[in-house]
Amino acid sequence: MPKHIHKIYKQPTEGKSKYMWKCTDCAWFVHAGLEYVIVGKQVYCWNCDDIFQMDERALSQIKPMCFDCSMTAVQVPIVEPVNETEEAQKERERIANMLKNLK
Ligand SMILES: [Zn+2]
Ligand SMILES: [Zn+2]
Repeated sequence: MPKHIHKIYKQPTEGKSKYMWKCTDCAWFVHAGLEYVIVGKQVYCWNCDDIFQMDERALSQIKPMCFDCSMTAVQVPIVEPVNETEEAQKERERIANMLKNLK
């Protein structure tokens, strides 16, 4: 069986941590604040489905993308989750602005 590669995203949560990292395909999860265990991991890009290595840059994204896709991310709107909390919405806008500044 080939090694499982996580496709990870930030799942908004109740409470003060605001979100946690989850994988779309398995039970893997990491709490907010423990991102150091994710950096260096191989994950799928949400835009092109290539495998890339998580880095500090990708941690800021709700749905992490590889370097190339992040550079063009302004053309790839982050999908708005249903039932988004006000805090999650602010965080998404903050990230969108950050990505714009990267350009
Ligand atoms: Zn997984
Ligand atoms: Zn990509």
